[in-house]
Amino acid sequence: MIKPERIQQLHSHINSGELMKFYKSREWMSLRKEALKRDNYECQLCKATGRYHKAENVHHMKEVKTHPHLSLTLSNLQCLCIKCHNEVHDRLESVRAPKFTNEERW
Ligand SMILES: [Zn+2]
Ligand SMILES: [Zn+2]
Repeated sequence: MIKPERIQQLHSHINSGELMKFYKSREWMSLRKEALKRDNYECQLCKATGRYHKAENVHHMKEVKTHPHLSLTLSNLQCLCIKCHNEVHDRLESVRAPKFTNEERW
């Protein structure tokens, strides 16, 4: 369990635009691992189309920036390969975001 004060602190990083502090936190790292384990390290979108690809990113279905309170909620996470992750964000965002590498950023 994460202490409420710590959660507040992580949310405040998000709210002040310091997303990297959130993504580098121990709490995110461990939740990210949990999500990967839950999804068998498999890209969930590739899986839905009957393909197999290793998951490389952990995506927030409700974005961290708009839903900070869901940033540490396992059910809001989805494991994706980099290609699917970029496609999801291309669809979500009207302004093109920088391409993802091997790290979840938003
Ligand atoms: Zn994929
Ligand atoms: Zn994402």
